Amino acid sequence: MDIAVAGAGIAGLTAAALLARSGHRVVIYDQLPAPAPVGSGLIVQPVGQAILRAMGLFDALRARAAPLRRLNALNTRGQTVLNIHYEALGEGTYGLGVHRAVLFEILLNAAEVSGANFERGREIAGVERTPDGRPCLKFSDGETSPNFDLLVDALGVRSALISRGDAFLKFGALWTNIPMPNDKDFPPDELTQRYRRADCSAGVMPIGEAQAAFFWTIRQDGYDDWRRNGIDAWKRDVLRLWPNAGECLEQVSDPDQMIFARYAHHTHRAPVDGRVVHIGDAWHAASPQLGQGANMALLDAYALAVAIEESGDAADDADGALSAFTMMRTRHVKLYQAISWAFTPVYQSDARLLPALRDWLTGPLSEAPPVRKLLAAIVAGKLGGPLKAMGL
Ligand SMILES: Cc1cc2nc3c(=O)[nH]c(=O)nc-3n(C[C@H](O)[C@H](O)[C@H](O)COP(=O)(O)OP(=O)(O)OC[C@H]3O[C@@H](n4cnc5c(N)ncnc54)[C@H](O)[C@@H]3O)c2cc1C
Repeated sequence: MDIAVAGAGIAGLTAAALLARSGHRVVIYDQLPAPAPVGSGLIVQPVGQAILRAMGLFDALRARAAPLRRLNALNTRGQTVLNIHYEALGEGTYGLGVHRAVLFEILLNAAEVSGANFERGREIAGVERTPDGRPCLKFSDGETSPNFDLLVDALGVRSALISRGDAFLKFGALWTNIPMPNDKDFPPDELTQRYRRADCSAGVMPIGEAQAAFFWTIRQDGYDDWRRNGIDAWKRDVLRLWPNAGECLEQVSDPDQMIFARYAHHTHRAPVDGRVVHIGDAWHAASPQLGQGANMALLDAYALAVAIEESGDAADDADGALSAFTMMRTRHVKLYQAISWAFTPVYQSDARLLPALRDWLTGPLSEAPPVRKLLAAIVAGKLGGPLKAMGL
């Protein structure tokens, strides 16, 4: 088939690599003059690792990432706020903290090697269709692409190919990369966080190569004030929450070193519209509390490639393949969107009662064996058996 992939992010690059490997003619369109990652660090969960393993890319990632055995958060009184042990799912299970640029580089290389073509500096404004339903892309300069048998929308949460209301949440975060701190408060195999209620928190996530991602919760409407108040005022706030975080802040001297990430939550009503298929954040975006977005993008891309391969790879079979893709992914997507929706106010909101209950219950509950296992399965991305659905 002739396939257009709109968006060279995690979902788009993965889909392009897999579809081009299967022999389809793939063109990737992105607005950036050169493909580039956005953001700081992320966790490739066990489900995402399984996809990378199936693509033959796992070892390259593992060599440059930090294995995380535990996600651990305390409040200012030392009570447990989050306590996830990956090993509750079996010895040798871990999350992989990684610089986003590393995952991006590996996927970009896979897409290029597989023969996918790139059209850079193309800002996509919409989609048009021929009478027989073949889509083409409309660009903001008024030009259009050729028609394709299939258009994969991997444009992320701001996709121009879907209509959605305001999906942005009240809270986001500031992120930066720092040298991995050398203090017992920051074990190299744990994501560590400190919380005051749910509106004030900071975290340190090891991402390999002696680096860590440092993040700080901020209200979306508080960003301008944060810049105006200056870095020193902010550092004092961080140290009030987390007195041992001084070493993390040493390298930060300019607000431009911090990336402001706006978090969003939305689920598009259906992933398929004729010969257009929405994957990754374009289909479903969630705040990164559960650390699933990149993993869901990998799962979507892999499921799409499997569904197309199983349908016989011909343009005439594309509709059947897209139905199979929808079947493979919908349950898992709905489940995780619901869990994320339920968890977000507990960890990022103005709420007072919910965080108080959280601080009271999480410590004792999270060490009870069935809960320990359930929490690990949620974070690993395994609830709902997404891998089995695609034969992994
Ligand atoms: C701060 C932060 C931390 C996160 N942590 C984690 C984590 O630990 N684990 C995890 O799994 N997930 C995490 N996520 C979520 C994860 O990053 C996203 O879910 C994932 O990047 C989605 O991939 P995507 O390919 O769908 O979209 P994106 O990565 O957003 O890619 C979209 C691409 O489309 C291009 N594009 C957009 N609009 C246009 C246009 N109009 N024309 C042309 N090109 C366009 C963009 O340039 C980009 O290249 C985090 C997210 C944030 C913000």
